[in-house]
Amino acid sequence: MQGMMMNRPLSIIEILAYAAEVFPSGEVVSVRCEGDRHRQSYPETYARAAQLAHALTGLGIGHGDRVATLAWNGYRHLELYYGVSGMGAVCHTINPRLSAEQMLYIIGHAEDKLLFTDLTFVPLIEALKDHLPKNLRIVVMTDAAHMPDTSFDALCYEDLLAGQPMAFDWPDLDENTAAGLCYTSGTTGNPKGALYSHRSTVLHAMSVSLALRLSLAEGRRILPVVPLFHVNAWGLPYAAPLNGASLIFPGPALDGPSLFQLMDSERVFSAWGVPTVWLGLQGEIKAQGRNPEGFGEVVIGGSAAPRAMIEAFETSGVSVCHAWGMTEMSPVGTQGHLPAHLSDLPFKEQMDVKQLQGRRLFGVDLKITGEDGTRQPRDGTSVGELFVRGNTVVSGYFNNPEATEAAIDDEGWFGTGDIATITPEGFLSIQDRSKDLIKSGGEWISSIDIENIVMAHPGVASCAVIAIPHPKWDERPLLCVVPADKDAPPDKAELDALVLEHMASWQVPDAMELLDELPLTATGKVSKLTLRQTFADYVLPDAG
Ligand code: ADP
Repeated sequence: MQGMMMNRPLSIIEILAYAAEVFPSGEVVSVRCEGDRHRQSYPETYARAAQLAHALTGLGIGHGDRVATLAWNGYRHLELYYGVSGMGAVCHTINPRLSAEQMLYIIGHAEDKLLFTDLTFVPLIEALKDHLPKNLRIVVMTDAAHMPDTSFDALCYEDLLAGQPMAFDWPDLDENTAAGLCYTSGTTGNPKGALYSHRSTVLHAMSVSLALRLSLAEGRRILPVVPLFHVNAWGLPYAAPLNGASLIFPGPALDGPSLFQLMDSERVFSAWGVPTVWLGLQGEIKAQGRNPEGFGEVVIGGSAAPRAMIEAFETSGVSVCHAWGMTEMSPVGTQGHLPAHLSDLPFKEQMDVKQLQGRRLFGVDLKITGEDGTRQPRDGTSVGELFVRGNTVVSGYFNNPEATEAAIDDEGWFGTGDIATITPEGFLSIQDRSKDLIKSGGEWISSIDIENIVMAHPGVASCAVIAIPHPKWDERPLLCVVPADKDAPPDKAELDALVLEHMASWQVPDAMELLDELPLTATGKVSKLTLRQTFADYVLPDAG
């Protein structure tokens, strides 16, 4: 017997329509490429998304067409998120930090019809223009006064919107209609596209809202440093308006001093981003001797949050939520707010829990399997490859049957490529990406574990551990360190002693190299691939 309830399709534009009606004082604050700070409300954002949908219709964009963006976090980008999806087209966010070759591949593979770009990336388009598809039209996201001289035909965003009606007859779309497209950078092979639907996006917004309800309450001010151009800024463009929280967009300035100043003046409560960004902010907090006004919480994900970073925030009164996810999961899979029953634990034990990647969101199922595919117990020690399943997880890659086949297992679960344990209470602990794990003499060494310990040394600004081939042991760990003070680098023996306090002697890195900085990926994480390439011919002390 079927239930007798209405079956209204889940729709992205409904989120903004709801925010405009129910949270009219919710704000969207943006640091603009033009150099100033801009503010508008959710009702204004909704009206401008409608104007954009009219403009897109006028440019011939229809259902299913891909509309690309190359832009920082700002209100116009947010309008594209809603206007494009709302009218039935697909908002394709492109990461401007990708190589030119990858970007051209993505634009071609997605068959984008329009490309919206921030002023910052106009020179990039100039450089690529001869290789871009001939029918791709380009819109610069600025007003007439700031339109740059370009050697290609460019439309002006504000001119397109000017005079358009402020209401749009949003179509009733099937909830499985494609709404957003984001390619993973992929360390080998071409980038692969995760194609989100209205349904998956709304469900993700609701489950993020539920899991992070304390962060997103009405009136809260949230800073997504995590970019709109990658993994939907962890769902914040949807979850924040859904809850009546305001969005504070940092635009292009993501260094510690700029973030501090923005957070301080806008009284940001919760800031979301990858660990490398918080290193910069923590430097500025140290320099200023105080936290930004109103700063109460930081959500850290994208790569493992170093324990030293978690402790530094927590001791200064900023609560850390360590989250895990990936592009293919919309992206949030787990979140690490401390459960109420653990809030009385001593500080050190609380930090032990916060260092884990947290518990799953509603609707995300997790399983870990051994090398032979058998499920591993949730005992906190059994290690295996992590697979996920749920309504917010990709069922395959856009127009890519080979990659789809490789990613989905026989039971229909998606292989994350992460190696993990799960505790009996359901806390996920990511040991490593399978490609970063160090395989030594038939045993595994977690690069994340070593990094966590070494990062706690005051002489270490940042570090990364990579595998170096070894004739006897297969692979051995090399520790790459950026010293806090170039003239007084930390001593290898001292760092070894620190590692030995927590790990077995055979897990201590064989060698240390000092670097000026660590290479970063397009998503702001330490690029271990680049490090492995840099040290491709490296010979460990006892391997000669
Ligand atoms: P890419 O980095 O290739 O652009 P994603 O942004 O989708 O792709 O990254 C997903 C991966 O990032 C995960 O599979 C995992 O390896 C890593 N990751 C994300 N969050 C965490 C975390 N909190 N701790 C450890 N690793 C993480």
